[in-house]
Amino acid sequence: MEYRRLGKSGLQISVLSFGSWVTFGNQIGNKVAENMMAYAYDHGVNFFDNAEVYAFGESERVMGRILSKMNWTRSSYLVSSKAFFGDGGQKPNQTGLSRKHLFEACHAALRRLQVDYLDLFYCHRPDKNVGIEETVWAMHHLIQQGKILYWGTSEWSAQEIMEAHLFAKQNHLIGPIVEQPQYNMFYRDKVEVEFKQIYKTVGLGTTIWSPLASGILTDKYIQNIPAGTRMDMDDLEWLKKKSLTPERLEKVKGLNQVAAELNTTLPKLAIAWCVKNPDVSTAILGASKMEQLEENMEALTVAGTLTEEVMERIELILQNKPKHPAF
Ligand code: NDP
Repeated sequence: MEYRRLGKSGLQISVLSFGSWVTFGNQIGNKVAENMMAYAYDHGVNFFDNAEVYAFGESERVMGRILSKMNWTRSSYLVSSKAFFGDGGQKPNQTGLSRKHLFEACHAALRRLQVDYLDLFYCHRPDKNVGIEETVWAMHHLIQQGKILYWGTSEWSAQEIMEAHLFAKQNHLIGPIVEQPQYNMFYRDKVEVEFKQIYKTVGLGTTIWSPLASGILTDKYIQNIPAGTRMDMDDLEWLKKKSLTPERLEKVKGLNQVAAELNTTLPKLAIAWCVKNPDVSTAILGASKMEQLEENMEALTVAGTLTEEVMERIELILQNKPKHPAF
């Protein structure tokens, strides 16, 4: 396993990490979740990602029971939660980034995950209804109280992240150190262009999500939609509509061919492609089966084969290289 610094923070994070969206407390059994977490940890993963909204709190409960059972030294892993969407309740104050919800979401996550503190606590989305001052102060206080160690954002724009930074700096508070954006071969702009300056200035780390675009960057959807896969799930019809397009499937065919020529598989190639970007601190893997995790964890072995020539071939297939603004 390779470890990278999370932005300018002192934290070292495994370049491959493991998350629980859709799977824990929902699509997969608890024993499968346990076996996969143990496999990941035994292979050097030190970051497990979660959120209040995943299976409406159940994902954190499942992960908490596993952490408690495994009894791993607390200093050997990082665990996160994210607040914004709530854990099911939709009454006023049960969602969003107010001080009240951030405190309550943090306490609920600590209880469910059965830990004394969260290593990372994210604002899962920006909240247009709450002033940035309130959110930054709330996160700062949670850090001072020892309930969280670092805080970050997810799917915030560069401008929103910088607003939080500037407010924190002006008031000698602790600002966000990390952003959690989507990043994969189909979704590149934010990580490759929008955040480019702030990696350098404030030293932003990135914990990127959906490195396989929810499983589309595999060969399994080329012919049909296999039963039991994410694109087959009734409550994720919106995701299928948005992501499983004919244009993408055409690209997947070409990418699959490149992977075969490199004697590897498309998931390994797609994950290696993400972490080849040095601005990616970690790629959060997702898996519904142990075989998937085993395969994906081998992605680092592909890194050496991603020569300039191979990267160029991939660009020719993708045709989506983001344009950097001309200065
Ligand atoms: P991926 O894009 O890697 O998708 C994972 C899914 O793809 C698996 O559950 C499985 O689904 C399928 N898959 C994975 N590996 C293989 C393989 N080798 N062969 C075939 N199919 C495979 O990641 P996720 O979308 O799961 O995101 C990872 C994590 O990122 C989440 O768990 C969460 O922690 C975080 N996240 C954060 C978000 C945010 O807003 N901050 C949003 C989304 C995710 P199946 O078998 O069911 O088809």
